[in-house]
Amino acid sequence: MTATNTALARLRTLFPNAPNKVVNPASDEQYPAAVAVPWSQTCWTPAAGYVYLSTVEELAGTLAIIRETGAKFAIRTTGHNPNVGFSSGDETAIVLEIGQLNSRELILADGEGDQGAIARVGPGNTWRNVYGWLEGLGLSAIGGRDPEAGLGGFLTGGGMGAFPNLYGLGADGVRNFQVLLADGSLINANAEKNTDLYRALKGGGSNFGIITQFDIAVHPLIKVQYDLNLNSPEDHDAINQATVAVQHAMEEDSKIGIFTNFNNGFVAVGSLYADHSDKPPRGLELFRNLKSLVKTAVPSTRGTILRSVCTVSTLISHELYEDVYRAWVEVCKTLPSGVVLHYTIQHMGKAGVQAGKGSGGNIMGYVSVPQTWWIVACEWPKDGSDDSDAAAIQSLAEAREVLLEYKCMNFARGSQKVLASYGAENVKRMQEAAARYDPEGVF
Ligand SMILES: Cc1cc2nc3c(=O)[nH]c(=O)nc-3n(C[C@H](O)[C@H](O)[C@H](O)COP(=O)(O)OP(=O)(O)OC[C@H]3O[C@@H](n4cnc5c(N)ncnc54)[C@H](O)[C@@H]3O)c2cc1C
Repeated sequence: MTATNTALARLRTLFPNAPNKVVNPASDEQYPAAVAVPWSQTCWTPAAGYVYLSTVEELAGTLAIIRETGAKFAIRTTGHNPNVGFSSGDETAIVLEIGQLNSRELILADGEGDQGAIARVGPGNTWRNVYGWLEGLGLSAIGGRDPEAGLGGFLTGGGMGAFPNLYGLGADGVRNFQVLLADGSLINANAEKNTDLYRALKGGGSNFGIITQFDIAVHPLIKVQYDLNLNSPEDHDAINQATVAVQHAMEEDSKIGIFTNFNNGFVAVGSLYADHSDKPPRGLELFRNLKSLVKTAVPSTRGTILRSVCTVSTLISHELYEDVYRAWVEVCKTLPSGVVLHYTIQHMGKAGVQAGKGSGGNIMGYVSVPQTWWIVACEWPKDGSDDSDAAAIQSLAEAREVLLEYKCMNFARGSQKVLASYGAENVKRMQEAAARYDPEGVF
């Protein structure tokens, strides 16, 4: 009997009165549904079993069996990470499904109203749950731009919200991680206790233990104003110029948020403002005035089903943006029909780095300058192949001397050296934390 089969047999005896908790290929309807949860079909790899955990006690019992048997496992909240094996497993592995750990509670600091209030939230929440709940309380938090993304991976991978310069990243604002360690102990990691683990979890990924609860900073409700426009790619020069100008304007006005996505036949430009204002905020009018506006719309990118991403970070440079555009046009000409390769320019400002530090900081080691975190994404039908690659941007940026070391975990391909990009000192801190909190290397 393999370690995984032994673990599954023991898990069934752990939950004798709840047969639906352990789902395996013999579970007629549940099994196909459990396999097909991840956002990208590349991760629809049938696992030996899926275990649905709804309490920390159940999770602890399950983890003990996993550890004792040495079974291969993965943790899943929403399955939004498109890297195979991150929150999925094959027939040799068990997936621990923790989406039901979705409690939400507002903790008020010394009864002083919203000042210093904290949202105590389970890792299985989606941002949609959290936003909706907080909005009812007149509050907001730094979460994903796609509300279906989950807290678990988003916050441990850094977490870029719509307004990076306002309060920094999601990880910056985590006040406490409650963590289930491999040895079964449940500990808190914060600015006073287990500070090394606290630091490591702020963007250092999920391989230290299972986070069972996050305490995150909340802010007064952000009133968002936004345009989502589709422009013609032929206007690339003006779009890139406007993007650069808005990125510079963001250093002066941290309420601005943007993304520029070069896609198959259109450029989707999202311009956001974290307030209601009658006239367009400075900088954003550049997007509104682009001559190539096709329509104001939310683009539909659901045409294909298999997806992958990768990332690189650079300084802001109109010349680089034009180099990348030209290289992308050439690559697109070589793609088989049905394959969509697209890229997005995302801003992280000096103001955002400072705001993040002020809010608590993280372990990701990116420099304090206005910069661009690129996402290169590929979507392809079943018989296609993955053509996403950030290497071209990297070498173009190198040639222009605007390449930065940092790689954003949440948009990285599994094979990219994300943790090494945080710098030697931070790598050492993460290794020390892993050795201390997970000495047997269970995670
Ligand atoms: C459509 C889309 C939009 C996105 N938008 C944004 C965005 O705006 N900003 C941004 O920063 N990122 C964004 N992302 C990236 C996203 O944040 C990452 O893919 C993230 O890993 C997803 O986390 P999850 O918990 O939802 O997914 P999962 O795939 O379930 O988990 C991701 C990883 O975290 C681990 N993990 C999850 N929970 C825990 C836990 N409690 N303890 C330990 N490990 C855990 C899993 O094992 C896995 O390795 C987006 C992704 C998609 C697909």
